[in-house]
Amino acid sequence: MACEAVSPQTILSGARLGLDDTFPFRCGPDLDCFGRCCRDVNIVLTPYDVLRLKRATELDSSEFLEKHTLCPRGEEQKFPMVLLKMDGEDKRCGFVSEKGCGVYNDRPWACRMYPLGAAEPKTPTPVDQPFHFVLQEDLCHGHGRSRPVTVRDWVSSQGAEAYEMMSGGFKELTLHDFWDGDKPLTEAQAAMFYMACYDLDSFRRFVFETRLLQLVEVDEARVEALRTDDQELLEFGIQWLRFSIFGEGTMKLRKGAAPRRAVA
Ligand code: SF4
Ligand code: SF4
Repeated sequence: MACEAVSPQTILSGARLGLDDTFPFRCGPDLDCFGRCCRDVNIVLTPYDVLRLKRATELDSSEFLEKHTLCPRGEEQKFPMVLLKMDGEDKRCGFVSEKGCGVYNDRPWACRMYPLGAAEPKTPTPVDQPFHFVLQEDLCHGHGRSRPVTVRDWVSSQGAEAYEMMSGGFKELTLHDFWDGDKPLTEAQAAMFYMACYDLDSFRRFVFETRLLQLVEVDEARVEALRTDDQELLEFGIQWLRFSIFGEGTMKLRKGAAPRRAVA
């Protein structure tokens, strides 16, 4: 159900699976390891994971992030990342109970995919393509407990496709050439990145309570969608970050508007 951060060595030394490759695995409440994978793990949340979880918990995004996540900042880290918070002495996920996952329908991508992980080269070539790999951990007793299942069927059976589709824009953002440079984000840029990607209710207030919409061109139908549609807002936020931080043409200034620096 959950996925721990994996070292590049582990990924590169294991078998690379394509969508039609198989692995024998079954998970269920009858296994003696049930729920063990929801303790003491590092689960990185994507913006879409946060969106789904804050909706499932009926919390404002700021409240959700405060209550259920951590945002560690390391010197090597180029942009803000969000981890699911583990609670108590045994460091268990706040959503797990004896019955299993309390947010099962909205559980994060990493939880859906486990024991599969996914890796993607920054610039895929015919010989260096995205691939999946199996995480073999002693705590998990589901390996070899069923007939082999294809990666494709696993992804589909776990409802992970929508998550992958919704995370395309964020993936492009995090794989951008900008991060190869030696210019770190300013504090203000890092705060904007965090808000536009994860704290969507605050970002909505930023969109509607600053001069942003007077400065960039956004058609009326989209403005209306941004008021209520979190997915549209997330896509808009990623375009905004690419415009205001990377200097890309993902948005257009209105005629006579001040340069992007005046807003970001
Ligand atoms: S979100 Fe659900 S599946 Fe993921 S670690 Fe928490 S309880 Fe387990
Ligand atoms: S089989 Fe693996 S994924 Fe399923 S509950 Fe056990 S440890 Fe978690």
